[in-house]
Amino acid sequence: MKIKELPSTEYIIPGTGACAGCPLTTGLRIIGKALGENAIGFLTPSCAVASMGLTPQTCYTFSALNICFASAGASAGGAAMALDALYRKGKLKGEKPVVFNWVGDGGTYDIGFQGLSASAERNDDFLHFCYNNEAYSNTGNQRSGATPQYALTTTSPLGKEMGQKNVPLIMLEHRPPYVATASLAYPMDLYRKVEKARKITGFRYIEIHMPCCTSWRFPPADTIRMSKLAVKTGSWLLWEGEYGKLTLNGVTASLAEGKRKPSPVESYLKPQGRFSTLFKSSEKEQQLAQIEANIGRELEFMVGRAKL
Ligand code: SF4
Repeated sequence: MKIKELPSTEYIIPGTGACAGCPLTTGLRIIGKALGENAIGFLTPSCAVASMGLTPQTCYTFSALNICFASAGASAGGAAMALDALYRKGKLKGEKPVVFNWVGDGGTYDIGFQGLSASAERNDDFLHFCYNNEAYSNTGNQRSGATPQYALTTTSPLGKEMGQKNVPLIMLEHRPPYVATASLAYPMDLYRKVEKARKITGFRYIEIHMPCCTSWRFPPADTIRMSKLAVKTGSWLLWEGEYGKLTLNGVTASLAEGKRKPSPVESYLKPQGRFSTLFKSSEKEQQLAQIEANIGRELEFMVGRAKL
């Protein structure tokens, strides 16, 4: 399938209050096309909620419920169980809607992690999307568990000391039916993964890398370029896994097989204002070398994990 052959129905309509160049509306647009209209979305506090507008003039055309920050697992899991009961009792008929979460890295990696892990372990029947913009962008760019090392945020004003958690991998280790990572730069890969996940019953998790021009401080026109550079440098890995069995995809698979070399990480980090301190530092060369070594180690680890 080509991008122009995607369904023409739009689930994000004009009127969004998101910043120009915002990645999350682009991502949600593709996801809407893959899920179709028979879907119910749960949204924790985030840019996706702040930018949706006020009822009855929201920019989303799917059913959307705003829930509290820590409750994505419990809310979507509870809704899925309630739907199950209603269908079992014959009170609802026809195709069952897809229940999905649309939650940022704050609600996934940090504040909502416990409930989400419990849902994954119970194999609750919903699809969790983490749109990972590597910070609490909605509240002015505070660091999250997904913020990379050396990135400046308002709560890491000298640059974050430690690296990121690998939450997609942690989710895979729960052995649920489906876990995947995706990038806006490869929309057909994202669409395919969502379509596949839609048809699976049980806990499904898809994390999409979302370069945020506002918090990361790069020009709004460069969102997709930054998404692509993240994958080409190996900073963001594309893979999918079923019941704990992992497969690397696309550019990441080519990097792993040595069919292509990773782009220099500097090409990805330098255009981002959040790394300005790193590039002014007298230790810049060592820090860049360390980042590249970490990228190489992570790829090697995932190649090994894919062999299990
Ligand atoms: S801060 Fe970032 S994620 Fe939030 S609306 Fe703006 S561009 Fe989108």
